Amino acid sequence: MECPYCHENMLKGYISALRDPLKWIEESRNKGAFISQFQRGIKLTAWTQNQIETFYCENCKKMIFDAVDLS
Ligand SMILES: [Zn+2]
Repeated sequence: MECPYCHENMLKGYISALRDPLKWIEESRNKGAFISQFQRGIKLTAWTQNQIETFYCENCKKMIFDAVDLS
């Protein structure tokens, strides 16, 4: 994948969720990590699929992944 910022090639890799699933929560709803499992958001990993495919740009230090809701 080409980086949309600097147009260099991005490295493909994975982010692992070791315990609780990763979840994106909108800023206005965010109450901190301790109660995030009870809040509505986009669940990015699941017990059956505890990694998310991610592309990383070493120049820009940016990562890109598909935000598919697994809940
Ligand atoms: Zn870049």
